[in-house]
Amino acid sequence: MDAIADLSLRERFERLRAMKLDLDMTRGKPCAEQLDLSLPLLTSRRTRSIQDGADCRNYGYLEGLPEARKLFGEYLGMPAELTYVLGNSSLAVMHDLVVQMLMRQLPDEERKWDPHHEIRYRPVMLCPVPGYDRHFSICERYGIEMVSIPLTDQGPDMDAVESVLGGPKGHRVFGMWCTPKYSNPSGITYSRDVCQQLASMKTAPGFRIFWDLAYNVHDLEEPGDELANFFELCRAVGNEDRPFIIGSTSKITFAGAGLAMLAASPRNLAWFRESLFVRTIGADKLNQLRHVEFLYSMKGIRDHMRKQAAIIKPKFDAMCEVFDRELGGRDIASWQKPRGGYFVALKVKKGCAKKTVSLAGELGVKMTPAGNTHPYGKDPNDEWFRCSPTFPPLEEVRLGAEVPAVCLRIAAEL
Ligand code: PMP
Repeated sequence: MDAIADLSLRERFERLRAMKLDLDMTRGKPCAEQLDLSLPLLTSRRTRSIQDGADCRNYGYLEGLPEARKLFGEYLGMPAELTYVLGNSSLAVMHDLVVQMLMRQLPDEERKWDPHHEIRYRPVMLCPVPGYDRHFSICERYGIEMVSIPLTDQGPDMDAVESVLGGPKGHRVFGMWCTPKYSNPSGITYSRDVCQQLASMKTAPGFRIFWDLAYNVHDLEEPGDELANFFELCRAVGNEDRPFIIGSTSKITFAGAGLAMLAASPRNLAWFRESLFVRTIGADKLNQLRHVEFLYSMKGIRDHMRKQAAIIKPKFDAMCEVFDRELGGRDIASWQKPRGGYFVALKVKKGCAKKTVSLAGELGVKMTPAGNTHPYGKDPNDEWFRCSPTFPPLEEVRLGAEVPAVCLRIAAEL
């Protein structure tokens, strides 16, 4: 270590280059060991519903298998009757909701949208930043104007939210993205106070919050963060139609081969069901059955997630140790050690994020493009990038953190 410290940054850069690294730190993916924990899903031979004996090999249950609705309703903090268990991807559910919102009026909607024509018909979505690039891609694809809202360590900056809602664009704001627990990528959890304000703030009719609980049980520390029950908060102030509560097991069992779910008010569900009915005859109930058999209860889910944390926490620790060692006290980067989720987000010296990612690329470390954390891929200050340590083996995580740290130090000196 001392020998390394004696080297100039340039020498270290060349040393790292000579290692001919080939590391992919781009997406937050579970590693093989995490996925192995869910292998029992593949050996189940059960075909009949545990609850009512229905043959899950056949059509039926558009809204999901009753026992899956019960378990994953509880997972989302919602009653079974207000929870649908769907296909494998929550992103697909969110995509469908947005497209349906553009095409059909919601039960409480007074507006008509036409994103590609007159500005007065163009919907606006509030986007807390740093945020999840795939949320933003949906908006970009369908011509929804995105307005960035700074994310504080308590949640979205509510003054900024109120100022957009009360400003000239207020009547066009049709939705807001929220990843309220262990947010992607900053790892923060919204405070109860912020949740309450989001539930009660005044908006145009037809406004929806996409409450994306992708990391709902993904604790790295015990006890994990507490998140308020958003549906309850909304209902208490007469806004029960405001939230779409969304989740999936992509980061619980198999990424891309798990279950997605949507919970919402009776009116919202009835509205969603109309399009679901023409879209599919039903989701994969065998997979729903396997998931219930395997995870069984909230306790089962929590026990399973504890095993995952035991695998990935040392990787988060290693990544943050390297950042502490390389970047601590230098005034060129700040980050919070996450208490859950899949990411470490770094806020770096203004104008340095893109350069850092490009230098890391020269050293064979692929990072998520800087700017991805913001609408349109444009971070106005070029100061955010995210790292996920979950997928690579521990040794590679150390290098995968050292490389961007060294590159950032070089970028900050340029
Ligand atoms: N929402 C967030 C915040 C995510 O980070 C991810 C996965 N990276 C998703 C949704 C996508 O989940 P799914 O696999 O269920 O489509």
